[in-house]
Amino acid sequence: MGLQDRSEKLFYRVLSSDIEKFMPIIYTPTVGLACQQYGLIFRRPRGLFITIHDRGHIASLLQNWPEKDIRAVCVTDGERILGLGDLGCHGMGIPVGKLALYTACGGMPPQQCLPVMLDVGTDNEALLKDPLYIGLRHKRIRGQAYDDLLDEFMKAVSDRYGMDCLIQFEDFANINAFRLLSKYRNKYCTFNDDIQGTAAVAVAGLLASLRITKSKMYDHTIVFQGAGEAAMGIAELITMAMEKEGLAKEECLKKIWMVDSKGLIVKGRDHLTHEKERFAHEHLQMKKLEDVVRELKPTAIIGVAAVAGAFSEQIIRDMASFNERPIIFALSNPTSKAECTAEQCYTFTEGRGIFASGSPFDPVTLPDGRTFHPGQGNNAYIFPGVGLGVTACAIQHISEEIFLVAAEALAHLVTEEDLAEGRLYPPLSSIRDVSLKLAVKVRAQYTHSTQQMYLTTSD
Ligand code: NAD
Repeated sequence: MGLQDRSEKLFYRVLSSDIEKFMPIIYTPTVGLACQQYGLIFRRPRGLFITIHDRGHIASLLQNWPEKDIRAVCVTDGERILGLGDLGCHGMGIPVGKLALYTACGGMPPQQCLPVMLDVGTDNEALLKDPLYIGLRHKRIRGQAYDDLLDEFMKAVSDRYGMDCLIQFEDFANINAFRLLSKYRNKYCTFNDDIQGTAAVAVAGLLASLRITKSKMYDHTIVFQGAGEAAMGIAELITMAMEKEGLAKEECLKKIWMVDSKGLIVKGRDHLTHEKERFAHEHLQMKKLEDVVRELKPTAIIGVAAVAGAFSEQIIRDMASFNERPIIFALSNPTSKAECTAEQCYTFTEGRGIFASGSPFDPVTLPDGRTFHPGQGNNAYIFPGVGLGVTACAIQHISEEIFLVAAEALAHLVTEEDLAEGRLYPPLSSIRDVSLKLAVKVRAQYTHSTQQMYLTTSD
């Protein structure tokens, strides 16, 4: 990051010279460590810090930002940084890193990207006591004051930079993420990467897996470990993909099961939010993931609960016993939170597992000499391309279809050779080309949907 301060051009030259090597530094897993130690390594600020006490003045703060032509904002309140929890103001590493990828992967000029931290305090006691903590030293302010801050921020950004300025939400806790998304999605040019970007990248991985299993999405039974932002986003998009294959919505929902911290989500259980309710089916209550897997015999398990090692040897072996090609996605970040390692997956399934992870894993060679290259379900395959398409076409509202189109386009770019080596995604080294192709698809989808809307209205 020192290089980014000294010579931005050189920084991006280095970054794009070997994106596969450098991405894990500005992104997961190293960005997680950087956020945990942000106070210690902090030298000079990057991005715009807005605190809850700036209410009423956000428009003037934005006026003071030297750049007038901002096309993409990435904002966090630091409450759920990766799987590391509440890191308060130290979560700023995330928007900074994500926007660096808009440039490195999507080719957007860095000055048009603005990282924002909304500092409303932190509930992390260790940070509140840390003399090096750079944020507000009080508990998180919630309720009306928080909502007012967000409303004012969204309006001020759109007033200053236009209704087509993209606002990407990152690492908000799920108590806020879902409601802010539904509140703003039809009003502003916004999306939540943890919900929708994750969904697109995971569904792209599943679509690529279908080419290996030679099946349709609706042939699968999918169990999620975790029922938060990532799980809900992925499940929603899987449902859309199944519907597109011709299955009725109700039937699609029945193919998806979720396990949260209280156990299997079933009808009539306590602690069911509106989002969870949709995936609650008639079934006996079960606590342990092992039992759920044995009982439901899923074809795919997706880990998004940030519970390290949750896919035990037993679970992986069971998956391999009732599936020729079990799909096992250990998506929790950073690496320390992964549900299982690539090596465990390939070893316990004798190389039959179709594996993807959230953080990168090295290739694995089994004792019989076969080598597998685990796929990384990296959101960076999606958001720079979607961002590029959205900003280039000045799209004002980002529909869910855009993410399905992006997922399909990404899966389509995986070659047969990639699949044979275990890769479910194109090589990261081709990411600029991938982003451009996704942007073109986003534009085509947008043009198609606006034409449809026009035809319907003129009817
Ligand atoms: P979240 O806080 O919204 O959801 C976490 C979920 O895990 C909650 O539903 C919670 O009930 C559940 N959970 C907690 N403890 C559990 C337990 N012991 N057993 C079962 N479920 C349990 O978080 P999120 O945004 O959904 O992210 C979760 C993880 O997924 C994080 O590690 C994040 O880094 C990772 N993630 C990966 C990608 C990717 O790979 N591309 C993208 C987004 C998120």
